[in-house]
Amino acid sequence: TLILAFETSCDETSVAVVENGTKILSNVVATQIDSHQRFGGVVPEVASRHHIEWITRCVDQALDESGVGYDDIAAVAVTYGPGLVGSLLVGVTAAKVIAWAHHLPLVPVNHMAGHLYAARYVGEFMYPQMALLVSGGHTELVYMPKEHEYEIIGETRDDAAGEAYDKIGRVLGVNYPAGKTIDEWAAKGHDTFKFPRAMEKEANYDFSFSGLKSAFINTVHNADQRGEKLDKYDLAASFQQSVVDVLAEKTMRALDRYPVKQLILAGGVAANHGLRTRLDHDMTKYHPEVGMLQAPLKLCGDNAAMIGAAGYIDYQNGDRGGWDLNAVPSLMFKRMEVE
Ligand code: ATP
Ligand code: MG
Ligand code: FE
Repeated sequence: TLILAFETSCDETSVAVVENGTKILSNVVATQIDSHQRFGGVVPEVASRHHIEWITRCVDQALDESGVGYDDIAAVAVTYGPGLVGSLLVGVTAAKVIAWAHHLPLVPVNHMAGHLYAARYVGEFMYPQMALLVSGGHTELVYMPKEHEYEIIGETRDDAAGEAYDKIGRVLGVNYPAGKTIDEWAAKGHDTFKFPRAMEKEANYDFSFSGLKSAFINTVHNADQRGEKLDKYDLAASFQQSVVDVLAEKTMRALDRYPVKQLILAGGVAANHGLRTRLDHDMTKYHPEVGMLQAPLKLCGDNAAMIGAAGYIDYQNGDRGGWDLNAVPSLMFKRMEVE
């Protein structure tokens, strides 16, 4: 079963052809980072314009590289939320047009389910399952009692982890998106600043990163005013240690409370080396009975291959979008009350 998948929720225009949700035949990703960098973040109007310019070329290239034609495609899957409304609409419209013209079913896909399914390319999913989804706009622990059922048990109350990386990166003069560079700097420094670890000991599965971000920014500004230059590697290492400590500790606690067969790590921030190593270590030590799948480095950021993998499950589940399918910028998994 071949799925033609679309992803345009933010600043990547991506189209992929995926077989049975487990094999990538093509995955074309056109990133707009260069256009947004000088603004220090994604400019929505600029993003949708780029999507419009590039989407048809991405479709042509994805089909070309896959070596298949429209006749071989079983369904068209598309991210319909969460994300920027103008960006989402380009993908949704393109997917509709192609589905309509080629008499194919249209499958609406949740972008965060997509991130999760990037890990499906590493191995088979087993349930019940827990996922730590960490990205530019989200930081959440998602419990899945079975396939296609998602329950948020904890999430950030303010900034997402990736957002915090990008904001503190800006203070250090790192271009957007800053996560990768800060991660590299962190490997060269030490946790000398001991920034706060918010909500680490609280009896819930929620996160908060805005206090850490403020503490970081204040430290840098105060040093600036004293005419002092702080070591950027130590700053990065200290920030990262704080983020990783909280993410890992809360995840371990969630696994104490919810017995699962598997932990999934996915989302843009799942590319973080400190986080990947720490979870490897903690899982072996505290939850050796639970398997772990970390999304492949190349599929942590936004891409359509992950949407094709999630879309395949949605397609089999009978999810269909009508010709009136709309973008849902604030689409969310349901939140469960936890005690
Ligand atoms: P969302 O998926 O929540 O809608 P998004 O799609 O914008 O948001 P992603 O593309 O999933 O976010 O991830 C991008 C984020 O990942 C950016 O904030 C970026 O800084 C961060 N990131 C990328 N690589 C790393 C890394 N190695 N360490 C930490 N953060 C990283
Ligand atoms: Mg992006
Ligand atoms: Fe994303």
